[in-house]
Amino acid sequence: MSPSVPSTIGATYVEPSSETALEPGLKLGDLFQRNMTQQYVLQRLSERAWWVQAFNYGTVFYVGEEGVLLFDELEGVYDNITAAVASVTDKPITAVVYPHYHADHIGDIGKYVEAAEAGGRSLRIVASEKTRQAMELSGSGFPRPTEVVDWPRGSFAFDGLTVELHGFEWAAHTDDHSAWLLTQERIIHSPDLINPDQPPFWKFAGNERFHWHEQNLRQIYDLEWDHLSGSHGNIGTREDIDFELAFVADLKAAVGDAIAANPFMNFVDASASAHTGFLANWSATITQAATDALRPKYGELYGFEEATLPNAEMVTWTVFEYR
Ligand SMILES: [Zn+2]
Repeated sequence: MSPSVPSTIGATYVEPSSETALEPGLKLGDLFQRNMTQQYVLQRLSERAWWVQAFNYGTVFYVGEEGVLLFDELEGVYDNITAAVASVTDKPITAVVYPHYHADHIGDIGKYVEAAEAGGRSLRIVASEKTRQAMELSGSGFPRPTEVVDWPRGSFAFDGLTVELHGFEWAAHTDDHSAWLLTQERIIHSPDLINPDQPPFWKFAGNERFHWHEQNLRQIYDLEWDHLSGSHGNIGTREDIDFELAFVADLKAAVGDAIAANPFMNFVDASASAHTGFLANWSATITQAATDALRPKYGELYGFEEATLPNAEMVTWTVFEYR
């Protein structure tokens, strides 16, 4: 068993249960070890919804009267996810969502389409209008959505469940990044917004930019939910958002201090053959200094050493350019 690390929020951990709905605020124990050794980690969240993770990739599914609604078609874990669904219901997966247009969250869609066709059904594929556009402009090779939800606010119904789209008009992660609220179940699913119970993951969970990350977190804060699914990391609550915002505030302050202590002119070298290195060397110095400054407070937490330098680099550029 690999060593466990402290919770970012002093959480109480429990064993996963596919039968008993998780009390909001509790977290699943030994999550990384479970991801590395089990076919899937499955937790019931509400009357009809479950959270599932395999190889550190997770999603949410809802069991309706006739079929199952699944929120991500995570790449490479089709067998794991479908085994988890089959362990709680014999109903087929009849609808899926493209939560945003990143291949690792929709990459197994072909297998879900094939399985539906083999069962004599055509799969509902729901996406936002923005995701539809992003796929079109990017020349995506994946099947197009069969149903489009208005951007940035819209909704769709599935077997009595209302799912609200809360799209981030100014998004850090992707142009079409969004949160999906399962209203009756009081669950919000926003893959790659936050890794609950961890300091920010590499590039703030694979963000295309840092700018707007804090605003996006605040945009979902007051919506009506009890459980937060970020796809990666543990099952979250507002305490995880509070931790992330506090970490970001500390990182921005550390970057600011490092910028003040390391004027750009110190990196200008007239004897160099190009000016290209000035900025790279300045940025590397700032990001290292900021990471070192955070280590005493956060260094023991999950993945700190691997994630914080690239995160400090993103924050440095944002702090420098957005004043
Ligand atoms: Zn993504």
